[in-house]
Amino acid sequence: MAVRPIVVLGNPILRQKAKRVSRVDEFIRSLLDDMLETMHAANGVGLAAPQVGVPLRVIVVEYEDTRLQLVNPEIIKVSEETDVAEEGCLSIPHYYGPVRRHSAVVVKGLNRNGKEVRVKADGWVARVLQHEIDHLDGVLFIDKLEDPSALHYQPPEEQAEGARRIDQAEQAQVARALQEARA
Ligand code: ZN
Repeated sequence: MAVRPIVVLGNPILRQKAKRVSRVDEFIRSLLDDMLETMHAANGVGLAAPQVGVPLRVIVVEYEDTRLQLVNPEIIKVSEETDVAEEGCLSIPHYYGPVRRHSAVVVKGLNRNGKEVRVKADGWVARVLQHEIDHLDGVLFIDKLEDPSALHYQPPEEQAEGARRIDQAEQAQVARALQEARA
């Protein structure tokens, strides 16, 4: 297993539509392992393969007792009820903003053994699933802000435990990309 570098806003791979996986093999399983490790190292709750530079429909989600590793995930049912909460993204480090999501979803996909699974989720897991599946279509949370002016930059405390170290050049790239998106 290995921690892979996370690509940030401004990298065109984040805006591409990821390809379906035709076979869940050792390549995909090691990708899933690396994605979990990368997500843990970054203190994240979800990660999509394009965020580690791999344009395939693969996501991982981990929150409280839930650990999901999904290949070709598809949302097949959504609740009518929605709610708004602050989201962030490992590829848009230190920016946060309010996004409306379905309160509950059913997702169909393949597990790490290539077996079809259905996942019913609500609360934060439902939100993370929607965020990660959006990544597979090149959609980012900043595209869906309930109030675009509410996007805010909040860097972690200098010595915050587990705070992800972001390269200054990368942070400048993100700021530039955001500015271009607003222009
Ligand atoms: Zn994200």
